[in-house]
Amino acid sequence: MKVFDSIKDLQQYLADAKWENKTIGLVPTMGALHKGHESLVRRSAKENDECVVSVFVNPTQFNDKNDLITYPRTVEKDCELLEAAGCTVAFIPSEKEMYPKPDTRVFKLGAVAEVMEGPRRPGHFNGVAQIVSKLFDIVKPDNAYFGEKDFQQIAVIRQMVKLLNLPVNIVACPIVRESDGLALSSRNTRLTEEQRKKAPVIAQTLRESVTFAAHKSVKEVIDYVINTINSVPDMEVEYYEIVDGYSMQPIQHWSETAYPVGCITVYCGKVRLIDNIAYGK
Ligand code: AMP
Repeated sequence: MKVFDSIKDLQQYLADAKWENKTIGLVPTMGALHKGHESLVRRSAKENDECVVSVFVNPTQFNDKNDLITYPRTVEKDCELLEAAGCTVAFIPSEKEMYPKPDTRVFKLGAVAEVMEGPRRPGHFNGVAQIVSKLFDIVKPDNAYFGEKDFQQIAVIRQMVKLLNLPVNIVACPIVRESDGLALSSRNTRLTEEQRKKAPVIAQTLRESVTFAAHKSVKEVIDYVINTINSVPDMEVEYYEIVDGYSMQPIQHWSETAYPVGCITVYCGKVRLIDNIAYGK
């Protein structure tokens, strides 16, 4: 596995690969890698000749500066995981390398970015669009891999790709979970032992709600999920919305979409956890 911290060196290496007609897959990450990231890397390595993984804690997507400061950084361990998963190129730039000047671009991401995470994390999706568009421009991947754990983020990236007419195929990969259902996340390490025991109630409640959704209204399902999770001490739902899985717009009736997806954000103590589930309507 090659490791680059310079854009120029990375591009020189990739120019040779492109000249040899090799396909390039890109997996953007912020490090603190776990099996969720690993599944994206393995898929990219399987489907492309070169598997590029970026590890960069992107400051412009953090609306909470404390979250940025305390974000876990485990570069050496990350490199071991990447090598074992089939990554051929790790790109680990400094902040100066990615942002030699402040990025003042404002993306018109439209309705997909104006619901759920959008208003609750002001500037977050614009920051994601800034870093991902830079990475796409530098790497020029054929395929780019994102996890469905950040469900709305995928819709935002697809919107950005459309907006900029970028020739990249966006591949959405399923959520990887712990055996008790908790979606893997770098933030799980911040949970206390007690909170870690409670956190699986999120995924378990979502799964339960799918089993009886056929006989219930959208509102009944939403109320069930919110009330069940809120009844657990130390857990508070920030929002639970059932949306059209393409447009991200909330639905009132199942008949409004062929692809209903429930998206949730829960505070477990001070740790903000997200998850989602598709309703097979
Ligand atoms: P992050 O490092 O948190 O920015 O995540 C990098 C990529 O890994 C994003 O596309 C995430 O959606 C994806 N990812 C994070 N956790 C998981 C998971 N549990 N399952 C699948 N993909 C994930």
